[in-house]
Amino acid sequence: MTISLFQRQSISRRLLAWFRRNARLLPWRSDRNAYRVWISEVMLQQTQVVTVIPYFARFVRRFPTLAKLAQADEQEVLRLWEGLGYYRRARALCRAAQLLHEAGYRTIPNDPDVVAALPGFGRYTVNAVLSQAYDRPLPILEANSQRVLCRLFGISRSPGAVQKQLWQLAADLLPQKSVGDFNQALMELGALVCTPAQPQCDRCPVRSHCQAKQQNRQHEIPLRARSASTVAVEEVAVVIRKRDRLLLVQRPDEGRWAGMWEFPHHPLEAPESHESAAYRLVAVLGLVCAGLSELMTIRHSVTRFRITMTCMQAAHKRGRPRAKGYRAAAWVGADDLHNYPLSTPQRRLASRLIELDRDH
Ligand code: SF4
Repeated sequence: MTISLFQRQSISRRLLAWFRRNARLLPWRSDRNAYRVWISEVMLQQTQVVTVIPYFARFVRRFPTLAKLAQADEQEVLRLWEGLGYYRRARALCRAAQLLHEAGYRTIPNDPDVVAALPGFGRYTVNAVLSQAYDRPLPILEANSQRVLCRLFGISRSPGAVQKQLWQLAADLLPQKSVGDFNQALMELGALVCTPAQPQCDRCPVRSHCQAKQQNRQHEIPLRARSASTVAVEEVAVVIRKRDRLLLVQRPDEGRWAGMWEFPHHPLEAPESHESAAYRLVAVLGLVCAGLSELMTIRHSVTRFRITMTCMQAAHKRGRPRAKGYRAAAWVGADDLHNYPLSTPQRRLASRLIELDRDH
């Protein structure tokens, strides 16, 4: 697909003018430098802007420079990241900061080859950070911008099937200057105006170029991928008490929630009861416990899995915890739980335990 010079210039000029009038005031848009752009871009992956705002503020207050982040304790970074999800991003951030610091850099360098070799930097992140921080002429493509491009150019196939074409269109539209603003404008238009279900074409600065609008096909484009069907999972978690302390285990270095802590939990094996699953878990940990009772039920989702976690508690009788499959195990006082990074459902359980502790 070729775009005429007129079309290219008109689209980029209109989008930039619209962005300057309508861009949201976001913390990473003021006092912009490559480090802050990087942190915000990583946090914004798979996460909504309103969710990211307080996390970003806390993070850059605690780690205002790349050097500070390079020297950070990974557990503290995970604790600050808690609730944002996709924790692999936080660990990659730490590792990338360390590598850059060791190589003598004080911020993200203006060098795509160096940046692309760092952990956590895919094509989108390299281009988003370098275009915004240094005005490098690099295109971006993510969910919002690909929806805008599909509609603008009347591409009715699924965006996943036409990635190459979309990257090329994003590159063809780049202006000579203000590339970072243009990239943000494309995403901002998708977030505020060209939204998935209710595109507000009357407010759109590029409506005169939009093929979807001309053909009245805004609601058909882009073609939505069929969502995978959900799977229900039943789990049991056991809070094991040893006098006034509770058993936490640390997840291994790889996989989901790597390096985070949790109360031991595992899926039920049908047709097992919750009690049997709890005792089986206690045995796997090399412990003997008594006085099993139910505490609460937590429902949450992880990708397409809808998990119901029945949380039990039991008193430790004997045995040293075997951290089989885990990195470590620790007996922790309820008043110390806030120091350990936990996933959102595990934090809900920890909050309940702190309440119970306070009531006693
Ligand atoms: Fe999206 Fe409508 Fe603008 Fe086209 S005219 S880009 S469909 S908001």
